[in-house]
Amino acid sequence: MNELEEVPIALSGLTLEEIEAFVLSLGLPKFRARQIHTWIYVKYAGSFDEMTDLSKDVRDLLKLKATLSSLELAHLQVSDDGTRKYLFKLADGKLVESVLMSFEDRATYSACVSSQVGCAVGCTFCATGYLGFKRNLTSQEIIDQVLAIQRESGHRVANVVYMGQGEPLLNVDEVIKSLHTMINSVGIGARHITVSTSGIVPGIERLAQEDLQITLALSLHAPDSELREQIVPITRKWSVEDLMDALYEYYKKTGRRITIEYVLLAGVTDSAEQAKELAMLVKRLHCNINLIPYNPTEALDGTVLYKRPTLEAQRRFKRFAESTGKTVTIRLERGTDIDAACGQLHNAFENDQAS
Ligand code: SF4
Repeated sequence: MNELEEVPIALSGLTLEEIEAFVLSLGLPKFRARQIHTWIYVKYAGSFDEMTDLSKDVRDLLKLKATLSSLELAHLQVSDDGTRKYLFKLADGKLVESVLMSFEDRATYSACVSSQVGCAVGCTFCATGYLGFKRNLTSQEIIDQVLAIQRESGHRVANVVYMGQGEPLLNVDEVIKSLHTMINSVGIGARHITVSTSGIVPGIERLAQEDLQITLALSLHAPDSELREQIVPITRKWSVEDLMDALYEYYKKTGRRITIEYVLLAGVTDSAEQAKELAMLVKRLHCNINLIPYNPTEALDGTVLYKRPTLEAQRRFKRFAESTGKTVTIRLERGTDIDAACGQLHNAFENDQAS
């Protein structure tokens, strides 16, 4: 394509107002935008030809000036338990991951989406951390992960978690825009959306101002600042006490219970002492605690830094963490026969391509 040729605009993932601006720019009446919006968000159309209430001329014009999706499926892994792990290629060729999970006890589907390509936080247990930060995703690219999953799987997504690659609150403007579109266009109830952060205090404050009824999950991973700095390096700017204050204010503003995520690394974060410290640290918060037994991952150079705690150590930690009356759960794992932790599929795919 030479420089003077127009690049077709991807419509999937745009807001109604953005689609309206696009149809008006083509000289089409504004109501066409509502029809296209319905085809994308309600009927999961995979092509303009499916949009049968548009005339053939309009469909032909759309095919010339637009594409439907901003992403292309690069790779799909399906686990024995039905978990579907997607690797999507963006318009600039970069790759992001998303996951679709279902739970036997609930006939609902949850999508886990990425908010950045790579991640700057550098958690020492995470494969994405090794990739470094590449770029922020746009709101459209975040939304389009859910739409592409719905189109591919044929399942309606009921819950969305911002827990894939990236730190959502380091891309806070686009993430907030995507939250509004997720609620208003995709139709996911705010209470069915979780944003998971490693603890970016200004981002937590900014999100609180939106006063959305979403769930905020904090990846705490250590009960004291010193150990936390080693595991979640970028957050050294804020002590765990600053973080607790920010969460307390978040709760006061939104009235929403916080989820505390805590990864159990054998011999590093899984002692009974640390469980008691954790219980005391979050005592004044309205929160529940979710323990994540570590799934060993290999860095690109093949090193494995941490080990998974034994079942006995997991249960002991849970018992002590419950000492101040909080609800403590051990995360149910999905897709363990495929690379289900964030960054793992991406790394495996790049390794395959390289070999
Ligand atoms: S765990 Fe999340 S925040 Fe930490 S490096 Fe991985 S993607 Fe980034």
